Amino acid sequence: MAAKTGKAKKSIETIAVLTSGGDAPGMNAAIRAVVRRAIANGLKVKGIKKGYQGLLDEEIIEMDNHSVSDTIGRGGTILGTARCLEFHEEEGVKRGAEICKKHGIDGVIVIGGDGSYRGAQALARHGINTVGVPGTIDLDISCTEYTIGFDTAINTAMEAIDKVRDTSTSHERCSVIEVMGRHAGYIALWCGIATGADDLLLPEKYDYDEQRIINNIIDNRKLGKTHHLIINAEGIGHSTSMARRIEAATGIETRATILGYLQRGGNPTCKDRVYATTMGAYAADILTEGKSNRVVCYRNGEFIDDDIEEALAMQKTISDYQYEIAKTIQ
Ligand code: ADP
Repeated sequence: MAAKTGKAKKSIETIAVLTSGGDAPGMNAAIRAVVRRAIANGLKVKGIKKGYQGLLDEEIIEMDNHSVSDTIGRGGTILGTARCLEFHEEEGVKRGAEICKKHGIDGVIVIGGDGSYRGAQALARHGINTVGVPGTIDLDISCTEYTIGFDTAINTAMEAIDKVRDTSTSHERCSVIEVMGRHAGYIALWCGIATGADDLLLPEKYDYDEQRIINNIIDNRKLGKTHHLIINAEGIGHSTSMARRIEAATGIETRATILGYLQRGGNPTCKDRVYATTMGAYAADILTEGKSNRVVCYRNGEFIDDDIEEALAMQKTISDYQYEIAKTIQ
């Protein structure tokens, strides 16, 4: 594991872990790894409940090896998560850092998305060592090719879409299936390829050309296709009214299915458990070394860490090649 930079700022004796932003399956595996690895490294560990809001409310608990027993296979987050507006203000961050100092917390591991990283960066500016771990089902963190929860979410969504596809075929219907990913089309792209969807509407690629979709349905029907599956990422229009318009224009019965939060829950897959465990332990290791303002990433087959600032500045786009494949192999 190559750790790029980082400096030993101060001696680290006690660290804390929190989960922030949207929950994701595998967060518990990461918490468990943080706690047990840090204890193995000789540190004391605390848990902060409900993200930055819990920090400001001083919902801080002692954690030991036993606190994380029987959690590796559980979805959600045992620490709870929340969004905290007060942490967007300098005053809120300052108070958060003071609370950390009051509780003897030298470093905090933040499991969450880009927004949560900004909170970690702000805390680091106030003298608390921080390390971010990517936790989001959306895969929309640029510095890493893996985020905790994505694998479980796409498998859950894929299984649900397979079921809708069965009934859609039997009834010769058109189906609009909405998956999560308001700003990022990764779930839609992966599920679209995995289920052989006929149309993929991704925020990064959608051209708002509904007529093109309608023409595609009509052409496919002429070719003898018995169903038409459209995977729609959350941010794109309103699936139910889109289904109504498609039905009116094509005369083919069209139903919308919105998968919603079922994609966020459930027991994490093997991959999510293993990667989350590795990243949680990695975060504990670099925090033990005295590094701060870092995020753990998985890139080019390696677990590495980057400066938060640099990580947040990176750009990530949907693979044009995979999108092209999805469109040609329908
Ligand atoms: P995610 O981490 O999944 O991207 P959010 O964007 O909602 O989720 O961020 C989670 C929380 O992180 C916010 O509610 C807030 O407490 C904190 N946060 C987000 N942006 C900032 C920021 N610029 N400065 C400080 N804290 C922030």
